[in-house]
Amino acid sequence: MTTTTTTHIQETLQNVYDKFKDVRDGEVASYIPELAKAKPDDFGISLTTVDGQVFSVGDFEKEFTIQSICKPFAFLMALEEFGRDAVLEKVCVEPSGDAFNSIELEPKTMRPFNPMINAGAIAIASMIKKSSRDCGVQYFVDKMGLAAGRKLDIDQAVLVSETETGNRNRAIAYLMLNCGIIDAAVDHALHQYFAQCSLKVNCQDLAMMSATLANMGINPVTKQQVFGLEYVKDVLAVMFTCGLYDYAGEWAYRVGLPAKSGVGGGIVAVVNRQLGISVYSPRLDAKGNSVRGIAVCKELAAHLGLHAFDFTNVGSSFMEWLTAAK
Ligand code: GLN
Repeated sequence: MTTTTTTHIQETLQNVYDKFKDVRDGEVASYIPELAKAKPDDFGISLTTVDGQVFSVGDFEKEFTIQSICKPFAFLMALEEFGRDAVLEKVCVEPSGDAFNSIELEPKTMRPFNPMINAGAIAIASMIKKSSRDCGVQYFVDKMGLAAGRKLDIDQAVLVSETETGNRNRAIAYLMLNCGIIDAAVDHALHQYFAQCSLKVNCQDLAMMSATLANMGINPVTKQQVFGLEYVKDVLAVMFTCGLYDYAGEWAYRVGLPAKSGVGGGIVAVVNRQLGISVYSPRLDAKGNSVRGIAVCKELAAHLGLHAFDFTNVGSSFMEWLTAAK
């Protein structure tokens, strides 16, 4: 990548940051009390290319909890451990069109609608929980650390807060126990899920994780194969159709990228075989998605021609654009 190109990417991020830095719409999540302590005006953007270039602006080193952005990665770990059929037996891959925490199962099969909402993610957590609580959580934390390219930890205060106030998730889990979707170790499965949500990351970590998905499971900087190639496409497909909950349809229409948001204020988007984007801004809209996160992704997708079906712009592919700029 030439200096001109890298300067251009950094300038683009800075311009997008400047454009939205004064937006104050939305509210920090407060239903998990510990999340209410986030600084509402924090704002960071990171972009990592599959050839290992890292670009960031704003509060990109500020740590926060990953929350629902853990879900696609946990889904991937379940696919790797159990295979497609066994996972699909427990969780569908249909958009629910409902909120992330809705208490509902697909009426015919009684499976959760997809692994990106809480019900599906708790079913996945039950599958990957391993024989002891520490073992299952450590496996997840270590693997996510490989995707981020640095050692990661659980935020214990958020984990306690999730556990103390997670009665809605408990209700979802018991409903799934009743329907034979998860086994009787309900507290163990919930601990796995709450711990996954409480993983501490920064914006740059998320961009590296999403670039790892874009790069066929290989971390673009360490070059380590973190996830097997076979199931990455499964995860990207479900992120594309279900990653933004009841905003997923409009997101696919307007941004056109596999993505996932979390109530901690993070959002990631994947440009397959090209790059990973992440935004951190804790003010959320009514659907639990970061307001500035959505705005930034829309702007970058439009500006860089990243929409999956964008054939109209000259140089609509980011990589073509990069090559042209050389
Ligand atoms: N821990 C949160 C919950 O279970 C995750 C939700 C989210 O990020 N959308 O409610």
